[in-house]
Amino acid sequence: TAETLPSQTARSEALFARARAVTPGGVNSPVRAFRSVGGSPRFIREAHGAYLTDVDGNRYVDYIGSWGPMILGHDHPAVRGAILEALAGGTSFGAPGEREVLLAEAVTRITGAERVRFVNSGTEATMSALRLARGFTGRKYIVKFRGNYHGHADGLLVEAGSGLMTNAEGGLGQSAPSSAGVPEEYARLTLVSEYNDPAALDTLMRERGHEIAAVIFEPVVGNAGVLIPTPEFLAALHRVRDAGVLLIADEVMTGFRLSLNGATGLLGLSPDLTCWGKVIGGGLPVGAYGGRADVMDRVSPQGPVYQAGTLSGNPLAMAAGLATLAVLEADPGIYGRLEAYTSRLAEGLKSAAREAGVPVSVNQIGSMLTAFHQDAQDGSVRTYADAARSDTAAFARWFQAMLGRGVYWAPSQFESIFVGAAHTDAELEITMEAARAAYAGLGER
Ligand code: PMP
Repeated sequence: TAETLPSQTARSEALFARARAVTPGGVNSPVRAFRSVGGSPRFIREAHGAYLTDVDGNRYVDYIGSWGPMILGHDHPAVRGAILEALAGGTSFGAPGEREVLLAEAVTRITGAERVRFVNSGTEATMSALRLARGFTGRKYIVKFRGNYHGHADGLLVEAGSGLMTNAEGGLGQSAPSSAGVPEEYARLTLVSEYNDPAALDTLMRERGHEIAAVIFEPVVGNAGVLIPTPEFLAALHRVRDAGVLLIADEVMTGFRLSLNGATGLLGLSPDLTCWGKVIGGGLPVGAYGGRADVMDRVSPQGPVYQAGTLSGNPLAMAAGLATLAVLEADPGIYGRLEAYTSRLAEGLKSAAREAGVPVSVNQIGSMLTAFHQDAQDGSVRTYADAARSDTAAFARWFQAMLGRGVYWAPSQFESIFVGAAHTDAELEITMEAARAAYAGLGER
């Protein structure tokens, strides 16, 4: 009905104006500013279950899930209870506590990592894992894939060219910084290869493997939109170890989401090190890295690779992570239900787009999904270059039409959406009704 539609945005707009006066772009993380979809971002007042409520009182079915952490839905009673219990005992000690041991035991038991170190974000996890890989191997170079995102550490903000790039020095796979403020000298230590291109990776390893400390990768990509690895690419990833290169799976997005043991468990990967974030903190700021004991034991104070944190192992954050993992472990059906909802969503989007004559190509795995506005066959968008062919203007119009109907999709074509356990048939119905109208609106143009 008309009065439940998110038409009032005066308070969000006023807050956005105030925010812009005191914060760069008015936000504390860029994609929240809606730059790629236009319009004013909604300022959120509260979130429960599958819903966000903004400061104007509009309610939205939430597909952001805080960009991954909220796999149980917002304000889950077990997580809230655990946080409140921890809160009653003080918020930070700067000394070890039992909850850190419990969460480390849970993570090692679930994932097979032999050691784990907690940090405060995904960025810290990947940054620390790479330092460790360099310290362990004594090598300088790292490899990342075009369109993969691993947080904002200097050496990881490196622009990806098409396939292996050749720079002025004639080096294979070298690339330039993608952010101001990253010295070229840092960027030069990061070699970029194409995701889902096993031959390019094999070539890079043959030419430069002896200088490379680690290959870091998203086992399922969420940050170019969803890209699913081919079996051939996974095999090439495993081969990098023939050159003494460490394999680092960045499971910040996929860990504890695509299965209890993440994408790694789902795809049968065995990395040397793994990075986690998001779900592992249950909505509080946590990251972690872990893996082989012989590698992890090089971390200080056990070894010479320094890494520290004032708030690392924070009791509230550990409590939220522990409660989240406990609910996930106690409910073996949960991943099947997430997958069922999301594949019904995928099928619904495909048929609604088809009916409206709007070209859409859907990639979906477990509770992650991207609907690319382009006419490729479903599942055939495999590389960053494939994803980049999408019609971002059409996506922006579709996004706004969804938002106007109370469905909060990821505000960029090149992001995954996240389904949580609080999404039920009722939310699917609301979503599909909005999607049919939004595609129909695009088809009319
Ligand atoms: N790695 C991956 C795969 C991510 O998706 C993200 C964040 N979206 C990060 C690392 C960085 O995590 P954070 O934002 O917590 O620093």
